[in-house]
Amino acid sequence: MEFILVSACLVGESVRYNGGDKRTDHPVLQRWLGEGRVVTVCPEVAGGLSVPRPPAEIVGAAGGLSVLSGVARVIDDRGRDVTGQFVRGAEHALAVARSKSIRIAVLKEGSPSCGLGYIYDGSFTGTRVSDVGVTAACLERAGIYVFSEAQLEEADLRLRRFEDGFASLRLPLPQDAESRGGVNA
Ligand code: SF4
Repeated sequence: MEFILVSACLVGESVRYNGGDKRTDHPVLQRWLGEGRVVTVCPEVAGGLSVPRPPAEIVGAAGGLSVLSGVARVIDDRGRDVTGQFVRGAEHALAVARSKSIRIAVLKEGSPSCGLGYIYDGSFTGTRVSDVGVTAACLERAGIYVFSEAQLEEADLRLRRFEDGFASLRLPLPQDAESRGGVNA
């Protein structure tokens, strides 16, 4: 069976910076939970941060890849550098994925760790930039197909393609390697 890595807050775990969660009752996720294929991870907690914790952003409108390559930092709203915790959390998430041969992840949009379509620009003004968080970048770089919670249907189609051995479904997916510049190749 294919396991799927999912942001812990999406299944109702109270691990967000404010002590809350971002539970979704989407039928795809509920079915996956019933099938026992969901593996949860909160990279920020795994990296050593507490619940609750000050909100953090990647500075300079940079993205997760820049953090992983050492040219951007993650700062919380009190000015504390939490780059190390974010990188450790991303490495933990990747280790969990590899331990179960996971090829698909569904992560929480907007997070400096899990964000996929957008994150915030480091000014703590609510300004979005089109980039990915540190864990999302780490997983994508490793070849894992990463989706946001707004893309559960696409993730489920990818799952079916894997489980069918690509035999019955041939439709192109938005996250196909060719449409993502080879990131997931
Ligand atoms: S790091 Fe990811 S899993 Fe943890 S609270 Fe933030 S979005 Fe959710």
